Amino acid sequence: MNNLEYQLNLLPYTRAELVNLVKNQVSEKRFKHILGVEQAAIMLAEQYGECTERASIAGLLHDYCKELPDSDFIAAIEKYHLDGNLKTWNNNIWHGMVGVYIIREQLALKDETILHAIEIHTTGAAQMSALDKILYVADYIELGRDFPGVQSAREIAEKSLDDAVAFETAHTLSYLIEQRLAIYPLTIATYNRYCAGKKQE
Ligand code: GDP
Ligand code: FE
Ligand code: FE
Repeated sequence: MNNLEYQLNLLPYTRAELVNLVKNQVSEKRFKHILGVEQAAIMLAEQYGECTERASIAGLLHDYCKELPDSDFIAAIEKYHLDGNLKTWNNNIWHGMVGVYIIREQLALKDETILHAIEIHTTGAAQMSALDKILYVADYIELGRDFPGVQSAREIAEKSLDDAVAFETAHTLSYLIEQRLAIYPLTIATYNRYCAGKKQE
């Protein structure tokens, strides 16, 4: 799969160039995770008949901003005139929700379907495209992940993307509640739609 050649001109880079850019941006451990997410995303895209090239790019870029200092995110919130409430959150939320603006500019990525998947890859959303679900789930089940429940998540992902989103969201929420961590509103929206089956407002 590592010889996937990009053909859609979604970026001004070959896959090999993109891999190198990502490699220079993160630690070795995170780089391995990112390659794992790319592979998982490509596999899910093949399985569910979605675009493997978009899955690859989304996987490679989803944590591109994960190791930036907090001050870069605060500066980006100002620069791109984003909702000031974002400043009250932290890296866990910023690397996707704010990172996507940095990625759009730095890497000249214009494909909105990929950008949206990256934006919400941590939280999910009430309305998720197939690519959104693929990235959200791939991030959770990539082969380097090792936590109680990951094997169940992998099995569920083979049968239904929506069920995999629900499984992951319920587990993440339980964890956040146990740890008394703040829950981002989009995470609750994902729970209401995919776990509780609530109709959209
Ligand atoms: P990673 O970037 O590959 O580590 O994975 P994610 O981007 O999916 O998640 C990053 C972190 O954000 C994880 O520790 C999640 O548990 C956490 N997280 C997910 N949703 C929320 C939320 O609503 N609030 C907070 N505070 N953290 C969250
Ligand atoms: Fe992430
Ligand atoms: Fe990740």
